[in-house]
Amino acid sequence: MVDPAIGEEVGSVPAGGAGEVDQAVRSAYEAFPAWRDTPAAKRGEILGGAAHAVLGAVGELAPLLTSEQGKPLREARLEIRRFVHTLEHYVGLAKNIRGGYVPDLDVDTYGLIIRRPLGVIGAIVPWNFPTTLLGNKLGPALVTGNVVVAKPADTTPLTTLRIAEIMHEAGLPAGVFNVVTGTGEGAGQALVEHPLVRKIAFTGSTPTGKKLMALAANDLKRTTLELGGSDPMIVCDDANLEKAASAASVGRFFNCGQACLAIKRLFVFESVADEFIEKLAGKVGRLKLGPGTAEGVMLGPLHSARQRDLLEEQVRDAVDSGGEVLHGAKRPGGDGLDRGFFYEPTLLVEPARDSRVATEEVFGPALPVWRVRDMEEALELANSSVFGLGSSIWTADLNRASDAAHRLEAGYTWINSPQLVYDELPFGGLKQSGYGKEHGIEALDFYTETKSVVVKKAVATQELGGAEPQPSQR
Ligand code: NAD
Repeated sequence: MVDPAIGEEVGSVPAGGAGEVDQAVRSAYEAFPAWRDTPAAKRGEILGGAAHAVLGAVGELAPLLTSEQGKPLREARLEIRRFVHTLEHYVGLAKNIRGGYVPDLDVDTYGLIIRRPLGVIGAIVPWNFPTTLLGNKLGPALVTGNVVVAKPADTTPLTTLRIAEIMHEAGLPAGVFNVVTGTGEGAGQALVEHPLVRKIAFTGSTPTGKKLMALAANDLKRTTLELGGSDPMIVCDDANLEKAASAASVGRFFNCGQACLAIKRLFVFESVADEFIEKLAGKVGRLKLGPGTAEGVMLGPLHSARQRDLLEEQVRDAVDSGGEVLHGAKRPGGDGLDRGFFYEPTLLVEPARDSRVATEEVFGPALPVWRVRDMEEALELANSSVFGLGSSIWTADLNRASDAAHRLEAGYTWINSPQLVYDELPFGGLKQSGYGKEHGIEALDFYTETKSVVVKKAVATQELGGAEPQPSQR
C-alpha cells in the first residue's frame, strides 16, 4: 500500500487467490448454520457490541485509513463513525424482520411467507470509502443471518483487516465475517465464481459491474450492483445561491471528488449564472489542499497516480473542447506536494456538451458548469447521461422541485439540500448506475429470500396429536 500524500509504502498484505478465497468461503459456510439459527435479537446484540468496539477504536482506525486512502483525518474519522452508525441502524432493525400471514387461501388453508437468509455473501468494496461501503453490506447481511466474505480494494485493505479483528475480539463468532485481500482479477473474481457464494454485493465501477454480472450469471447468483454516477445539480433562477454554491463545493470536492454521489455536472439558469459562478469560484479558491494528516486540510491527494492521470486527460479534453478554466486544472507546486498525487480543485465553465466531463464519470476534483435556458433544458441535459445515481435541485418553487423529483432519472434527488445519505432511506442507482438497494429497511430484502408455505389446518391439527382446539390458556 502506498500513502497517496507522499508516494511511499505504508504496508503490505498477501495477494490472495482462489485458494485463500476457498478457505474463507468454507469458513463462512461452516459458520452459517449457527449464525442463522441465533435469535435475531441476539445477532443484533452481538453486532451492536462489535460496532461499539469499532467506535472505541476511531483514534487508531482514522490515521490508518488516511495513510492508505489519502483522505483528510477529519473525513476519515467521519467515515469510521458512519460505518458504526450504519451497523447500529441495522442492529435496531434486527428485531423487526417480518414475514407474512395470508388467511383463508381456501377452506381450512392459510399461507405463510417466511424469510430466510441466503448464506455466504461476497462483499466487494472499492477504495474511495473502504469502510462505509463495507458497512452498507455487513449490517443488513449479518442481522438477517447471513455470513460475509469481504474483498477490499487491493490498495485499501488495512483498515478493513483491523476492523475485522476488532469486531471478532468484541464477540463476533469466528467465520461470520471474513476478509480476503488481493486484486480484482485474482481474489475478487474467485469470490464471484465460488459455487458456495450465494450473492455478490458489489460497489465499484460500471465496467467492473457489467463483468461481474456476466460472471454471476453462470450459476445465477444474486447481485446488488452499486456502480458509477455522474450526478447532475440544477440551480434555478429562484435558488438560494449562497447555499447552493456551498452545497456544490462540498458535494463536488469532499473526498477529493472521489465519491459515487459527488456532483459531477452542474446546470445553472443563465439569468443567475454569473452571480452563482462567482460565489462558487470563491469557495473553490478557499479549499485548502494538503496531506490528510495536516491541520485544516479540506482536500487531500487523489488516491493514485492512475486516478490523477485519468482526471488530467478528462480536464485537458474539456479545455480543448472550449471549456474555460476558472480555477485549478493543474498540479499544485511547492510545499512538498509534488511527492503525492495532488491536483488543484478545478472549475470549468461551458466545456462542449459532448466532451468527456459531460459523458464520462469524473472521479476527482473537477466540476464542469453549463448555463441553461430553463427547466426543460436542464432536465434534458441532466437525464442525457447513461448514469442515474444521485441528483439535486435548488429552487424556491415547490411545484418545480416536485416535478423535477419525479422526472430526474436517478435513485436519489435532494431538494435544496447537500448530498447527504441517510441510513433510513433506500439508496441505489438507475440505468448504468446499477440496481438493488442499500440503506433503509429495503436493504434487508436484498439479503433474504422469501418462501411461501401453505398450511392445511385440519392436517396440521391431526399431526400435532389430533387434539381438539383448546380454550386459550391466557
Ligand atoms: P473497480 O470496479 O475498479 O473496483 C471495485 C472493487 O472491485 C475492488 O475491490 C476491485 O478489486 C474489485 N474488482 C475489480 N475487478 C474485478 C473483477 N474482475 N472481479 C471481481 N472483483 C473485481 O472500482 P474502483 O475504481 O475501485 O472504484 C470507483 C468506482 O466505484 C467509481 O465508478 C464509483 O462511482 C463507484 N462507486 C459506486 C458507489 C455506489 O454506491 N454506487 C459508491 C462508491 C463508489
